[in-house]
Amino acid sequence: MPAKIIISVKGLTKKYGDFEAVKGISFDVMEGEIFGLLGPNGAGKSTTLEIIETLRDKTGGVVTVDGLDLDKSPGEIKKIIGVQLQTSGYYPGLNLTELIELFGGLYNRKVHPPEFLDMVNLRDKAKAKYKELSGGQKQRFSIATTLINQPKIIFLDEPTTGLDPQARRNLWDLIKDIRAKGTTVIITTHYMDEAEVLCDRVAIIDSGRIIALDPPDKLIDNLVATGFERPKEVKKANLEDVFINLTGHTLRAEH
Ligand code: ADP
Ligand code: MG
Repeated sequence: MPAKIIISVKGLTKKYGDFEAVKGISFDVMEGEIFGLLGPNGAGKSTTLEIIETLRDKTGGVVTVDGLDLDKSPGEIKKIIGVQLQTSGYYPGLNLTELIELFGGLYNRKVHPPEFLDMVNLRDKAKAKYKELSGGQKQRFSIATTLINQPKIIFLDEPTTGLDPQARRNLWDLIKDIRAKGTTVIITTHYMDEAEVLCDRVAIIDSGRIIALDPPDKLIDNLVATGFERPKEVKKANLEDVFINLTGHTLRAEH
């Protein structure tokens, strides 16, 4: 793993009125990794992400992104990050080609819509409107839009929530592809399997605190080393494996 720290968070706190949603968390994200914030609803994942994205004020702590201080250079930080927008934000009347052109214009970047759509396997949807896409297609498209300004880091907040197993796997492949091209990915999820498959390291966050931070394998090994055993012998496959095996792990199912 490359050794350069691209995001540094130290003692981050966030209060909403009297309620402290983030209670002094610290972590580093390394350049080129997929870093996961794993935790239940209400843990403080989105709050943390939105603070780093410069979209939400923090209460305390120090955050640096690619050497830029969040307090001093939010504008510079915005230029080097890609943020997945909430899905309702898209102009309903525009098709995917027009939306990509619009984003390209916003970021002042030359983009070639068909190439862009190829990257996320949506070329045949070039003339479709966003609202006409399936759930998985919508998520693939919104992840593509994070890449338009050629960011160093992309932020994905629960990108697979609500998707079926195939669409989730397709998205995992897409996220791995993006990282393989050198982009750092920070992702939140409450799916344990997703964190295990996708993330190089995960911070487990609960009630505004990080309670563990390591590669998934190491977290599991640590638990096993304590003498932990699963109460019951688990089968070698589960119902989701059956489903994927029967229906196929391809993009076909979504077209
Ligand atoms: P997660 O993304 O892990 O589900 P959030 O960061 O959205 O968690 O929320 C963390 C806590 O902060 C929750 O208890 C939530 O209700 C609270 N919270 C989030 N946003 C606000 C807000 N704008 N005003 C007040 N409380 C908020
Ligand atoms: Mg959230």
